[in-house]
Amino acid sequence: MNRDLERLISLHDLDVMIGDLVNKDIRRQEKRLGLSPDDAVAELRKMRDELDSSINRRFRDKYNQLSAHYGNAVVPVVHERCSGCFTQLPTALFASPERNEQVETCPSCGRFIYWAD
Ligand SMILES: [Zn+2]
Repeated sequence: MNRDLERLISLHDLDVMIGDLVNKDIRRQEKRLGLSPDDAVAELRKMRDELDSSINRRFRDKYNQLSAHYGNAVVPVVHERCSGCFTQLPTALFASPERNEQVETCPSCGRFIYWAD
């Protein structure tokens, strides 16, 4: 898998985890992570910052724009559709043997897309 794509997916996962800890169900998360919620959030934010600074600037800026706009910037392709906006993707995109070998975006919503299979 493309290195930037891999990092974008991880960045998204971290953002989801941070969002969960900050927004909801803090007690349950605390138990699961074995950390106090504040420590866990601080730790995840540190990981996020490190990851963020390792991503190609062009992709990082776009990630941040998409996150602010949609809430999720990186989505899997499901049944040949972008799972962010449900647009059917062009055949050339999903038929490519180089899936996940480069960073692709949905032609409709612009989110980063990847194949999870
Ligand atoms: Zn889309």
